[in-house]
Amino acid sequence: MRHLIIGAGPAGVVAAEHLRKYDPDGTVTLIGEEPEPPYSRMAIPYLLVDRIDERGTYLRKDPAHFAALGIDVVQDRVTAVDTAAKAVTLARGRTTPYDRLLIATGASPVVPPIPGVDRDGVHACWTLEDARRIAQRARKGSSVVLIGAGFIGCIILEALAERGVNLTVVELEDRMVPRMLNRTAGGMVQRWCENQGISVRVGSRVTSIEAGTGGALLGVHLDGGDELPADLVIRATGVVPNAGFLAGSGVATKRGLLVDEYLRTSLPDVYAAGDVAESHDFTTGELIVQAIQPTAVEHGRAAALYMARGHGHPQRGTLNMNVLDTHGLISTSFGQWMGVDGGDSAELLDAADYRYVNLQFQDDVLVGATTLGLTDHVGVIRGLIQSRTRLGPWKKKLLADPARLMEAYLASTLPVGRNAYVI
Ligand SMILES: Cc1cc2nc3c(=O)[nH]c(=O)nc-3n(C[C@H](O)[C@H](O)[C@H](O)COP(=O)(O)OP(=O)(O)OC[C@H]3O[C@@H](n4cnc5c(N)ncnc54)[C@H](O)[C@@H]3O)c2cc1C
Repeated sequence: MRHLIIGAGPAGVVAAEHLRKYDPDGTVTLIGEEPEPPYSRMAIPYLLVDRIDERGTYLRKDPAHFAALGIDVVQDRVTAVDTAAKAVTLARGRTTPYDRLLIATGASPVVPPIPGVDRDGVHACWTLEDARRIAQRARKGSSVVLIGAGFIGCIILEALAERGVNLTVVELEDRMVPRMLNRTAGGMVQRWCENQGISVRVGSRVTSIEAGTGGALLGVHLDGGDELPADLVIRATGVVPNAGFLAGSGVATKRGLLVDEYLRTSLPDVYAAGDVAESHDFTTGELIVQAIQPTAVEHGRAAALYMARGHGHPQRGTLNMNVLDTHGLISTSFGQWMGVDGGDSAELLDAADYRYVNLQFQDDVLVGATTLGLTDHVGVIRGLIQSRTRLGPWKKKLLADPARLMEAYLASTLPVGRNAYVI
């Protein structure tokens, strides 16, 4: 069996290693277009604050790792897939055949339609090459404008602040991290950032990026009429799955490549994993692009099993879960954190101490949660949501006091008899 993987990020690498395990006799080829050994984008913020060097971002540190496993790593770009001939075409002209193909090509940053977004000094923060460019310009005392305060924007924010730049964050929506936090939590993150000297402009649109005045390289113009001077502008305005090379193949897509519970696309013997895949969300059952690393890794492992064996337990969907460290303030969101129709919710707020818990229930099952400033309940929340545990009388107790999560978990998940005293 010839297994071919396009994309050498976390999804592709984990799939390659598991394919080798599940199919010791098959060939495994991993094609990636970036010039570096397979690396983790998640590590880029640590690189930007010099906590690691570039080698520290590599997914596997031993240069002989892939060769030792008999995984053939090819550095090239796949330009087309011929599903009838079962072969892919590479940019350098070669054609490579496959029996089973995994597409793990990730996503790319969206380029917002802002005049001047292509000027020198405007970068995404997505690749190691981006990180090198940002490190050159984001020096102590320089002025940096970050467009977008979403999940990735806030991760980058911390690294930029630590580099000692004068940072302004511009967010179109009415709060920070709007696709992960509600107004209360988003507002607390904003206050936290502002107290640490970061300027935050929510509900603001960048209308153009012009040449700067008064010594600044760039001038970032906002819809309210303000101009922000900038030595560097970073855009973090969302990502789009890398599926363009499949144009004309007839593959089913919405935002990403649609996959079933075996991570199969609509094309025969073609699977997809990671940021490029639109797969089942654990709590809603709907198809979404989660674009987070734990999902990429889980996809890679599951896809390898199905590719090698042709069967296995169907994937139950991945839990949408984000853990974010915004300049020292940890926020988390799980599942349907925004609530469900007809559901109930409970909230605990200590604004002065930056502590917040919001729980969302459907009937007596926890289906979503948000926390701020608290990390001890992360495992419990995840466990309760993923096990779809019926909380019974503990739902009422949690509505009265969300801090009793650990008790609720122990009481509801331990075998009957051992927990009778807790209830
Ligand atoms: C700065 C930063 C911080 C992040 N922090 C977190 C975090 O804290 N937590 C979290 O969960 N997620 C985080 N993420 C997101 C996380 O990195 C992604 O979800 C993860 O990388 C997805 O893995 P993947 O394997 O699907 O795709 P990728 O890692 O994007 O890998 C895909 C690879 O395929 C290659 N490729 C694309 N097209 C082709 C082609 N046609 N031919 C050959 N190769 C191709 C790409 O160049 C790339 O190397 C962060 C991302 C960034 C940028």
